[in-house]
Amino acid sequence: MPAVFLDRDGTLNMETGYLHERADRRRLPGAPQAPAVFLDRDGTLNMETGYLHERADWRWLPGAPQALARLYDRGYRLVVVSNQSGLARGLYGKEAVDALHRWVNEDLTGFGAVIEAFYCCPHHPEFSGECSCRKPKPGLLLRAADELGLDCRESWMIGDKISDIQAGAAAGCRSVLVRTGYGRQAEAEAPDALPVVDDLSAAAEYIIRTDGAEAP
Ligand SMILES: [Mg+2]
Ligand SMILES: [Zn+2]
Repeated sequence: MPAVFLDRDGTLNMETGYLHERADRRRLPGAPQAPAVFLDRDGTLNMETGYLHERADWRWLPGAPQALARLYDRGYRLVVVSNQSGLARGLYGKEAVDALHRWVNEDLTGFGAVIEAFYCCPHHPEFSGECSCRKPKPGLLLRAADELGLDCRESWMIGDKISDIQAGAAAGCRSVLVRTGYGRQAEAEAPDALPVVDDLSAAAEYIIRTDGAEAP
């Protein structure tokens, strides 16, 4: 894929001098926007079934593919970040997970959305020791940001567990909790300031409204 190298101040945002805080950033009209939305997988995109690794068991949550398409249309780069302790437990192999994710993207083509990458933590402390990528740690998001050139400060994390929200916050993202999956239980422990919405469609709506993202 070809790259476009962009100067920042005066090109993407108003030149203010020594800009280093989000509150001072003003996008120039028409400047390209490429924030990311990091997405938890099970319970956020698809029904939570436990150790899902076969496409026959994949069920999109209602409206989820359309919500991804809305975000994608607005220029958000979509990146899944998923704990896959089933790998550490030996319940399935990485090939199965990769094949499932390829199929998810094929299915999304019909809706006009593309998930740019899937980052998975294959660890579990009891089976493979501690790691720096199992959510609530931010390792998956930070690696994605580094490898894909994403600005976490401009990005969002959507998930159905507090550990998703903590990973997002630790990476410097803003977060939204959805009530699907384990979200209703998680809501009880959610900090007051955290936006909590019914599902991925409502999360997309919230993000687009908050950012004032316009359709291209
Ligand atoms: Mg989940
Ligand atoms: Zn890990």
